Amino acid sequence: MYDVIIIGCGPAGMTAGIYMSRAGKKVLILEKETIGGQMASSPLIENYPGYTSISGSELANSMYEQANNLGVEIELDEAKKIEVTDTVKVIGEDNIYEGRSLIIATGSKYRLLGLDNEINLIGKGIHFCVSCDGAFYKNKTVAVIGGGNSAVVNALALSEYVKKVYLIQDLDHLTAEDALITKLHEKNNVEVILSSKVKEIIGEEELKSIKISTNGIDKEISLDGMFISIGLIPQSVIVKDILPLNKYGYIETSNCKTSIPGVFVAGDCRDKAVKQITVATSDGTIAAMGAIEYLNEKKVN
Ligand SMILES: Cc1cc2nc3c(=O)[nH]c(=O)nc-3n(C[C@H](O)[C@H](O)[C@H](O)COP(=O)(O)OP(=O)(O)OC[C@H]3O[C@@H](n4cnc5c(N)ncnc54)[C@H](O)[C@@H]3O)c2cc1C
Repeated sequence: MYDVIIIGCGPAGMTAGIYMSRAGKKVLILEKETIGGQMASSPLIENYPGYTSISGSELANSMYEQANNLGVEIELDEAKKIEVTDTVKVIGEDNIYEGRSLIIATGSKYRLLGLDNEINLIGKGIHFCVSCDGAFYKNKTVAVIGGGNSAVVNALALSEYVKKVYLIQDLDHLTAEDALITKLHEKNNVEVILSSKVKEIIGEEELKSIKISTNGIDKEISLDGMFISIGLIPQSVIVKDILPLNKYGYIETSNCKTSIPGVFVAGDCRDKAVKQITVATSDGTIAAMGAIEYLNEKKVN
């Protein structure tokens, strides 16, 4: 019986594990894919305090070592089902785990275009997060793929320092708010290309260009970088029957607490505006503090 089971070994889950272990609690983290979560796929992180520049895998390793040295148990297993009674049962692919409390830190995934080469070139010209990686493209030519609010905000942010931004949208109009579209049209280094699908990503070791198709006519555009802004997929399916999700599938919480006593949520799977490592670690702290308080009160009563 663990004091807490944490699902997800990204920055939110590992921070929660570190706090709970230091508070003397027996902690298990379950991870289905990669220790470090999304962070591990970032080639360079330059906005995590304390490190001027560090690769995502190095930052993930150092969080992992810290958690491991504090006695946090980390199992590579996918949580498939959760049953909450007075305690928590997590049914994994390989094993069944029991705990007195639960922290969901399952994160989210960027939506991909689904093209050949796309995954290989992530971090080598293909990016998702402008506040993370935009600064690498000062005075260069980039494309933003998408036409909603986040795509337009990304194009506006990049237009401040890149040479040229192509905003490529498959519909015949942008779906972002009017105020953002007005601002976009004031920029003379942004070219909006509508009714266009990215058909091909060209480049072996790094992104070189993309082929787009506009009303059946193909065109190749040379690029230094491309930011895919077609949305995120929250990894919340495991709790969809027990916790409320917002219309995009993010878990609704109140300061990382849920309506179920002893069940907390931290990080990118939660309904919140900013999705960054610093915010995920902050959530991990808040969820852990909540779980520690819950466990200590339960012990007294
Ligand atoms: C390429 C890239 C670059 C980025 N660069 C930066 C940057 O420079 N700076 C910055 O601040 N942010 C950056 N981000 C965003 C940042 O990585 C995320 O905000 C952060 O990782 C979110 O942390 P998290 O712990 O909430 O979730 P995640 O990192 O998504 O971790 C969640 C973990 O839970 C696991 N999981 C999910 N479901 C289950 C299950 N059922 N069972 C077991 N395990 C499960 C997942 O496999 C994953 O490992 C970047 C993201 C990407 C993709």
